[in-house]
Amino acid sequence: MHSFHYRDGSLHCEEVDLSTLAERHGTPLYVYSAATLRDHYRRLKGAFSELDLHIAYAVKANSNLSVLRLLAAEGADFDIVSGGELFRVVKAGGDPGGCTFAGVGKTRSEIVYALQSGIYCFNVESEAELRFINELAREVGTPAHCAVRVNPNVDAGTHKYISTGKSENKFGVDFQNIQGLYDTAAAELPHVVMRGLQMHIGSQLTSAKPFIEAVEKVAPLAAELKAKHGIEFLSIGGGVGIVYRDSLASGDEAWWSKQSEGGEAPLTLEEYASALTPLLKPLGLRILLEPGRFIAGNAGVLVSRVLYKKHGSAKTFAIVDAGMGDLIRPALYQGHHDIVPVREAEAGAGAETVDVVGPICESGDFFAQDRDLPKLEQGDLIALMSAGAYGFVMASNYNSRPMPAEILVDGEEAKVARERQSYEDLVAGE
Ligand SMILES: *Cc1c(COP(=O)(O)O)cnc(C)c1O
Repeated sequence: MHSFHYRDGSLHCEEVDLSTLAERHGTPLYVYSAATLRDHYRRLKGAFSELDLHIAYAVKANSNLSVLRLLAAEGADFDIVSGGELFRVVKAGGDPGGCTFAGVGKTRSEIVYALQSGIYCFNVESEAELRFINELAREVGTPAHCAVRVNPNVDAGTHKYISTGKSENKFGVDFQNIQGLYDTAAAELPHVVMRGLQMHIGSQLTSAKPFIEAVEKVAPLAAELKAKHGIEFLSIGGGVGIVYRDSLASGDEAWWSKQSEGGEAPLTLEEYASALTPLLKPLGLRILLEPGRFIAGNAGVLVSRVLYKKHGSAKTFAIVDAGMGDLIRPALYQGHHDIVPVREAEAGAGAETVDVVGPICESGDFFAQDRDLPKLEQGDLIALMSAGAYGFVMASNYNSRPMPAEILVDGEEAKVARERQSYEDLVAGE
């Protein structure tokens, strides 16, 4: 479910009118729904009730401290990809002992910091990294708990920039080399303790098939590693897709009941869970999930104002005050975001085919091209839907534009989760 809906002709997040928030805090403005974040977390947990399931929220999807604090209070663990993310989790009151540390390029200082913080596990992506962690664990004087990320060579069928489980991707260790690496660890690396096995095949998956294919391949390997090396967990990664299209029209059940991107049958939570549970349960292992987009994606919108309309010879442009520096998904990987007016279009009001573009000096700075939208006028507010994951976290100051504020709505309350940057913030440190 998500908690964005029209009431009295104006788009609300839970009980709060987005136009009121725009007046008070300015635009562009990220707005997140606490109820939606909680709902997604609880539903995912509930769907896998037959397993010993731990949800390690992928911090990179939305790392705002208020979001992390909310999820920590729900009992979430965290999947981190940098020392900075570990710092955020600790700041937010999360337990470092529940953190898994992923990524192909962990640095010395990050590994030392994670060892000293007592994280749950390093998800290791190469033999060289495993040897380096062993070395640092010796220096720090604490054993390093590790899992190896297996690359199952499965095509996730998603955009090539967010596909990670094929042999040509930089991620993970080839399936056929995994056993050897665990044997090496046992024989030669006294400061690492092999605790689990991990996989993550990509992001924004909209079919259960690649997950099933990958788990079918990896589960027997996990069983062998349990028998031989006593591993205690299998992480099946994140990647559960969300529905980006028609997210508002179908109300609360939007992203489960509608067609998903690419026109495939959508991946329902029930399908996902019921396909995987029979494969995972017999292992008798702790199962980790690392959802990011699934938790946060439909829990946030980016509110922006139309600065100008421009009628070119080939196109009509709605130039808005948010740009690719605030939300880069369309420019980076053709990500789709529904665009809706905050003031609900009246029945019978005119539609128009427009490009919705930002103010940044790049032709790639657009949110929609040739999109049929209710007619927008100068000064109108719009909401870019499904912007809660991989939105603000990818923001930049390109063109020296301060980053937007973030608001967390919980029922009738709306609190500033991050202040809008000032011009002084732009030059701090220079
Ligand atoms: C990015 C990432 C995730 C989260 O992916 P989503 O598609 O947002 O669910 C999980 N695990 C790892 C290792 C990742 O890199």
